[in-house]
Amino acid sequence: MVADACHSLGGSYHGRPVGTLADLSVFSLHPVKHITTGEGGFISTDNLELSHRMRVFRNHGITTDHHQRSEDGSWFYEMADLGYNYRLTDFQCALGICQLQKLPAWIEKRQLIARRYNEVFHKLNTVMPLGLQHNISHAYHLYVIRLQLPMLDIDRKSFYLHLRQQGVGVNVHYIPVHLHRFYRKRFGTKPGLCPVAEAAYLEILSLPIFPGLTESEANQVIDAVSSIATDHAI
Ligand SMILES: *Cc1c(COP(=O)(O)O)cnc(C)c1O
Repeated sequence: MVADACHSLGGSYHGRPVGTLADLSVFSLHPVKHITTGEGGFISTDNLELSHRMRVFRNHGITTDHHQRSEDGSWFYEMADLGYNYRLTDFQCALGICQLQKLPAWIEKRQLIARRYNEVFHKLNTVMPLGLQHNISHAYHLYVIRLQLPMLDIDRKSFYLHLRQQGVGVNVHYIPVHLHRFYRKRFGTKPGLCPVAEAAYLEILSLPIFPGLTESEANQVIDAVSSIATDHAI
């Protein structure tokens, strides 16, 4: 099993950290993610054979790296498979190791903000925070709310614009995959194919969540969402 774990670094499921749940767990180190090396990413696995194949694959399909070659005192190297250059630089790794040490505190900060948001939004009946299953420690890459549209006199776009006007950096994640132009052209997907995802898409907003968000900024978000949700309740 291969997991796209880019949103869940630092999270856990039944006490098992994300990165140990699948055969291969893929993480991104792009600047918007929990930790960054500017660009790049990493894959965790406990499968030695897969880890070896990935090391070769990221190195032009070459079987030995230069450390091994100099240890062997040898000029010999062999391209054993088709591979590419997917190497992360040492500079990036130095940054990444440093960032990794900050991850636990950053996750706690995200969870703290999410708890504050949850407490208030659970009391509003026009806005619904996402539910959380038991035995999950959520990494909160995003904090998503669902608007109860039948109980509001505005749609998601107006709600979004009101928040933007009040200085809240709100966003929408994401347009359903099958509605992207590429998939429509290539695979003929279209609206109606995934009605649940399409309905959810019309209701969702992502609120600001990041370790540097101050308490007063979080309160500003809470006040803005609460006032719009109350003013536009039917
Ligand atoms: C960021 C992200 C990616 C892409 O990561 P790159 O580093 O740009 O390749 C893929 N999947 C998810 C869920 C992501 O959040």
